[in-house]
Amino acid sequence: MENTRHKALEVIQSRKPSVSAKPVEKVSEIFGQHVFTLEKMKTYLERDIYDQMAYIIEHGETLDRSIADKVANAIKIWAMEKGATHYTHWFQPLTGLTAEKHDAFFDLEKGEPVERFSGGNLAQAEPDASSFPSGGIRNTFEARGYTAWDPSSPAFIFENRFGKTLCIPTIFVSYTGEALDFKAPLLKSMEALNQAAVPVCQLFDRNITRVVATLGAEQEYFLVDRSLYDLRPDLVLTGRTLLGHRPARGQQLDDHYFGSISERVFAFMKEFETEAYKLGIPLTTRHNEVAPSQFECAPIFEEINVAVDHNQLLMDLMDRVASNHNFKVLLHEKPFAGINGSGKHNNWSMGTNTGKNLLSPGSNPKDNLMFLTFFVNIIKAVHDHADLLRASIASASNDHRLGANEAPPAIISAFIGSQLTEILDELEKPSRKKLDNSPKSYLKLGISKIPEILLDNTDRNRTSPFAFTGNKFEFRAVGSSANNSAPMTVLNTIVADQLVEFKKTLERKTTRGKKKETAILEILRAYIKDSKNVRFEGNGYSQEWVEEAERRGLSNIKKTPRALDAYVTDSSLHLFARRNIFTPKEAHARHDIMLDHYIMKVQIEARVLGDLCMNQVIPATISYLNQLLSNVQAMKAAGLDKSLYAAQTELVSEISGHLNAVKTKVDQLVESRKKANSIAGTRDRAIAYADEVLPFIAEIRYHGDKLESLVSDELWPLPKYREMLFLR
Ligand code: ADP
Ligand code: MG
Repeated sequence: MENTRHKALEVIQSRKPSVSAKPVEKVSEIFGQHVFTLEKMKTYLERDIYDQMAYIIEHGETLDRSIADKVANAIKIWAMEKGATHYTHWFQPLTGLTAEKHDAFFDLEKGEPVERFSGGNLAQAEPDASSFPSGGIRNTFEARGYTAWDPSSPAFIFENRFGKTLCIPTIFVSYTGEALDFKAPLLKSMEALNQAAVPVCQLFDRNITRVVATLGAEQEYFLVDRSLYDLRPDLVLTGRTLLGHRPARGQQLDDHYFGSISERVFAFMKEFETEAYKLGIPLTTRHNEVAPSQFECAPIFEEINVAVDHNQLLMDLMDRVASNHNFKVLLHEKPFAGINGSGKHNNWSMGTNTGKNLLSPGSNPKDNLMFLTFFVNIIKAVHDHADLLRASIASASNDHRLGANEAPPAIISAFIGSQLTEILDELEKPSRKKLDNSPKSYLKLGISKIPEILLDNTDRNRTSPFAFTGNKFEFRAVGSSANNSAPMTVLNTIVADQLVEFKKTLERKTTRGKKKETAILEILRAYIKDSKNVRFEGNGYSQEWVEEAERRGLSNIKKTPRALDAYVTDSSLHLFARRNIFTPKEAHARHDIMLDHYIMKVQIEARVLGDLCMNQVIPATISYLNQLLSNVQAMKAAGLDKSLYAAQTELVSEISGHLNAVKTKVDQLVESRKKANSIAGTRDRAIAYADEVLPFIAEIRYHGDKLESLVSDELWPLPKYREMLFLR
């Protein structure tokens, strides 16, 4: 029988870049073509209805039923002109994927065919949702979950070669109002941040009446050839390779980073970018990443809820377009051991209705004090809630990336750069700069000297999980497959809470007669001191930092089941309740769902690895052993001296050793899984999976990879790292 792996390699040899139908010359001509933007509503809605919609969108309100029918009709006309036949509420359940259930516009009215789409269809739907995770909130027998339109994210048309569907971005809640998705809490956190940030803004600028959080998410991913992917059950079923010997050449030459993009990959990028533009996703950058076959794309930042929708859509789109190019997109955080993992850097800031970015320092001292106020409050929030931030990025797959090659560790710290460090140090010194009560006293603190274009990103630290990059923070610890809502919800919430606290303290001080500026500086000074521990400017990838962080008492929670505890501590439960994000019931449900998810992921990996070993690794190894043994026998029969086939006999014993180890450990893996499954509490079960089951996966891999390096290439069934990673 011919080796299927070799056949796949032959197929790949003859691959050509596939030419997408019509290459686009001008992005502006197609941008947003498939989106029902406010601009388009102008043409399809009566003036007063349009004005009401504009207000609703601007203020993040829900759709008024009195105008829902008219808006629905306008959307239907537009969508049908575009060729859509069906519609769906598009939502983001806690599976981590997006969900859709299509309904036709088509209906029968007294036997007559019509196309229909009512205000009710637009505003709300009730998908049969009993199999989405709810963490016990929804009993299956009353499986009612509702989806409701979030007008701040526009309707769009999703197109593939076979048809077009109108998608209405919605939130997903239970009959009793609890959130069952990622979007509902995200929207709440945006509102909490708005309500907390506006009063703080007004200390400096009365014109500011609305603050929105912004997000620009860089997306890293790997591409592998479809034929090789199909031969790797581990990639297909778990998203990562559970076996695979490191190639002689990995990424040590650093020759892939920003290298020229191969034509085959370029053709793929071009096509998915074109599709993204039609959907209004403002992609601007693309480049090769550090690891071979790793790439990145990034859009221009947008309001968080839209940015989240766009990132979810983008992941979906990439996957669909990849199949036209015989590629498979890997979004897993660590598809290849020993090679860089993939993240999704979340660039986050806050913008105002006056067009100001709250994290960009201004040209005068007043603006700079405003900037510092937000900046220091954020650092304080990150310090106080580091564990919650860690929890917000926790997943079975991200655990493999954090702290491994070229990725931030599981320690949360913030990098702010040398200039801001100097300014904060200056502000902190109590003795030299005793604050007097004159309004101008803060000028002496160097605040007037913060340059408008701070740093211009000259000192960039790419090893920090949370880095200030000139006019935004970049949360880099977020994993490549994550839904950004989870970390962004937590970040918005902790900053909102901190700003409320700041404002309260300030009021106490000013009612006692302190000048506003002096009081602000006093508070910031205290915050700078309190949160100093979380600031780190050095190399976050180094072992020294791990030790230093331990001395500082910072957490380094390596595994998800323990990291998730932070969601349900008393302080977090109070925080979520105070800021109206989650009720304790919702937080507990979410915690449970995430633990369950973790268990399932490790469980699947354990099963897949067991199967791979028994069905592929061991049989291939035995074939090779037989070849060796017949050779030994033949040499013996020919009366040759033992020393002449010593290599063969040595190989036989070495290979048999690893083969036995694989078999023994697979048996132990099965046992440990059974034991873990018998544990009643979800958290304890998840911990058993992390501490008892997972280590076997690594041990089996060690022996499996040894076998790959020893067994004849002719016989090895699984595509090798060197074949998957060096795309042709
Ligand atoms: P780098 O690789 O240097 O981090 P990129 O250009 O790849 O830079 O990504 C920077 C991202 O930050 C882009 O998505 C950009 O739109 C985003 N960004 C810039 N300003 C803001 C802001 N005020 N709020 C949120 N994101 C921002
Ligand atoms: Mg970046």
